[in-house]
Amino acid sequence: MLIVVHGGIYVEEIPEISDALKKACSAGHEFLMQKEAVDAVEEAVKVLEDDPRLDAGTGSYPNLLGEIEMSASIMKDDLSCGGVAAIKNIKNPISVARGVMEQTKHVLLVGEGANLFAKLLGFEPYNPMAELTVTTLRKAIEIAENEKNSIYHYYLERARLRLQTLQLGTVGSVAIDSKKQKAAATSTGGIEMQLPGRVGDSPLIGLGNFAGEWGAVSMTGAGEGIIKLGLARKIADWMEEMDAQSAVDRGMALAKKNNVVCGAIALSLREEIGIGNNGGKISFAYWKDGMQEPHSYKNNQ
Ligand code: ASP
Repeated sequence: MLIVVHGGIYVEEIPEISDALKKACSAGHEFLMQKEAVDAVEEAVKVLEDDPRLDAGTGSYPNLLGEIEMSASIMKDDLSCGGVAAIKNIKNPISVARGVMEQTKHVLLVGEGANLFAKLLGFEPYNPMAELTVTTLRKAIEIAENEKNSIYHYYLERARLRLQTLQLGTVGSVAIDSKKQKAAATSTGGIEMQLPGRVGDSPLIGLGNFAGEWGAVSMTGAGEGIIKLGLARKIADWMEEMDAQSAVDRGMALAKKNNVVCGAIALSLREEIGIGNNGGKISFAYWKDGMQEPHSYKNNQ
């Protein structure tokens, strides 16, 4: 049994985040001991979605209209999977993604359709705008009022302010349970200054998130590039012939060659861990058999 979680890639050193990752890893590990890998990754991602410092669920980046549109996906190694994209006013998009996996014949629901589905499943409306985000937006509006500059400049200022408020990245988890079942889950509020309606890699199966015969992968970073390279699926397939770390390294090298800044966590059927990034740091935690508590690390480029 093994579970790994990540909190996105970032440039600045943020010590507090390792506690958040350890908490999510512990919550996921508890589920892993009693239930299945898919329950563990959902639980770990829910804990990270609820942390306002991370760009998923509560604390997600608002788009250029100031609204939060979130995306998430979940997958089991029997190829069952589900995702939501551009969903609004939901606390835990990863759980709605699981609903899509288990209660529909579809792989992805977007926008209003995803929200209607969540409502029918009984998910209560919830405002994911964190206090931190509100403060930042207020400051940004003040700046915009004084600047008299172009609207584009306004958003650049806002992006700078958000960096100071410890907002971090997308979140994800991969796990393998005692029956060797693997699962992957990824959740995001998208990227800074994204256009309304923009969807990145995270809810797209095989691109930002994948679990299959040889392993499970959760990606973070520049969504458009990850989509073009189909990275999650490639890394997962490479684990048939190489260990998890080599597969992730190969994915990072391919991304770098194509100027795509990204990171990945992976685990293989053989219970190896692979962690990598080519853009700064990726913060992660893991818990495997024999350990008394989760270990949290950051992996530098
Ligand atoms: N991959 C995410 C997206 O493009 C963002 C991130 O991982 O930071 O939406």
